[in-house]
Amino acid sequence: MELIFEKSRAGRRAVSLEPLDVPEAPLSTEFCRTAALPLPEVGELDVVRHFTLLSRLNFGVDSHFYPLGSCTMKYNPKVSELVAALPGFAALHPHLSTAKVYEPVCQGALELVFETERMLAEIGGMKAGCLQPMAGAHGELAGVLLIAAYHRDKGNTHKRTILIPDSAHGTNPATAAMAGFEVREIPSTAAGTMDFDKLVEALDDTVAGVMMTCPNTHGLFEPKVHEVAERAHAVDALLYYDGANLNAIVGKCRPGDLGFDVMHFNLHKTFATPHGMGGPGSGAIAVGERLLPYLPGPKVVKGPDGYTLEAIPKSMGRMAAFFGNFLIAVRAYAFLRHYGGDGLASVGENAVLNANYMFARLRGAYQAAFEGNCMHECVLSASRQADKGVHALDIAKALLDRGFHAPTIYFPMTVRECLMIEPTETESKETMDFFCDAMLEIARLVDEDPNALHAAPVTMPVSRLDEVRAAKNLNCACLT
Ligand SMILES: *Cc1c(COP(=O)(O)O)cnc(C)c1O
Repeated sequence: MELIFEKSRAGRRAVSLEPLDVPEAPLSTEFCRTAALPLPEVGELDVVRHFTLLSRLNFGVDSHFYPLGSCTMKYNPKVSELVAALPGFAALHPHLSTAKVYEPVCQGALELVFETERMLAEIGGMKAGCLQPMAGAHGELAGVLLIAAYHRDKGNTHKRTILIPDSAHGTNPATAAMAGFEVREIPSTAAGTMDFDKLVEALDDTVAGVMMTCPNTHGLFEPKVHEVAERAHAVDALLYYDGANLNAIVGKCRPGDLGFDVMHFNLHKTFATPHGMGGPGSGAIAVGERLLPYLPGPKVVKGPDGYTLEAIPKSMGRMAAFFGNFLIAVRAYAFLRHYGGDGLASVGENAVLNANYMFARLRGAYQAAFEGNCMHECVLSASRQADKGVHALDIAKALLDRGFHAPTIYFPMTVRECLMIEPTETESKETMDFFCDAMLEIARLVDEDPNALHAAPVTMPVSRLDEVRAAKNLNCACLT
């Protein structure tokens, strides 16, 4: 396929500008380029065809079922796009919110920030929210820095450790280390939940916090979460809730009520915006009583004359300019207002029902990683298939040929040949059945014709890539 630069012909244009209606003024030479900017010069049809073709080579929730566990690739309601494109939101200059004279023209946007933070805090069972962080990992960093600010303020200089279960997403230990803490890993039991006795053993006076995901990345609810909170608070360690899996419990159970002090929400997982390709996203956070004084500021407050910004005296500082990825919050706001409390509870119920339906259909042909039911995602192991030479990667590639995006594979790393499937609440029974049929057909092929699976994908524009070279060397021949 030609790159758009290869389609370029000197002088061709896709837009025509109106003639100048003001006198031309020369730019000072210090601001001028000395050589022309190497941009592609193409006509409008070329641009439209080029990008339409590229979009058709891609997999996305609008074209294919996308059961990526831990990522919650649910559909993106088109009404959210409409709302986010309203010029009153999309064309707003962020500086309008910071100058007193302009505040009146962005009251609607400030109200949206205020209300979204308030709704998220309510969903989390927390005291207040903050929209600034721009990704889940960024929300984690905000949360761990808040925990650090709390201990600093209390003079707890001996608190240097953060405890994290081995099933956690890699961003958890990375975040804690970036914030300057030592990370201690707590193993899982054979049942797939955190080993409580090992946690209690590790929970000494040096522990600043415990980061948990509940349900965890094995798709299981941590049964001792209340006891963990009690034990942690007894040594003045705070509890962080990784909210990436909130789809499982939203509207049914609140992390604040479970004893957590701070959490992040992946607005680009649970609240309408699908994610992938590096963003944009939003890792909004919410905090309970203990961390309220340290929230990133300034915060939007509601007064008699409307919404204004207020500094937070002990704030940990900003996590982002202005209000983070504001238009992701607009989409989340539309989603939350549309569903309301009862609607959100049905999101949680259906997410769990769907995952258990697929688990029940697939756990005969594939090894279930853990006993019992799952929450919003089910974890299988292709260990039986691997013993016959067909690995989780081969199964993922074979699914592409059958019209599906692959589930998450090789994560969590605690499970051999892991296949982690999350249908979300937004898929129909028919779609889930098509996918399960394909998985069962692949399991049969492992016995009959395993080589057919080693060649997959055979219907895609590219077959197997050298993935390391593809990521590190974008110009390499492995992409042609
Ligand atoms: C996605 C995810 C994160 C990180 O979120 P990003 O927005 O990708 O930075 C953290 N924890 C879990 C369990 C996740 O699934």
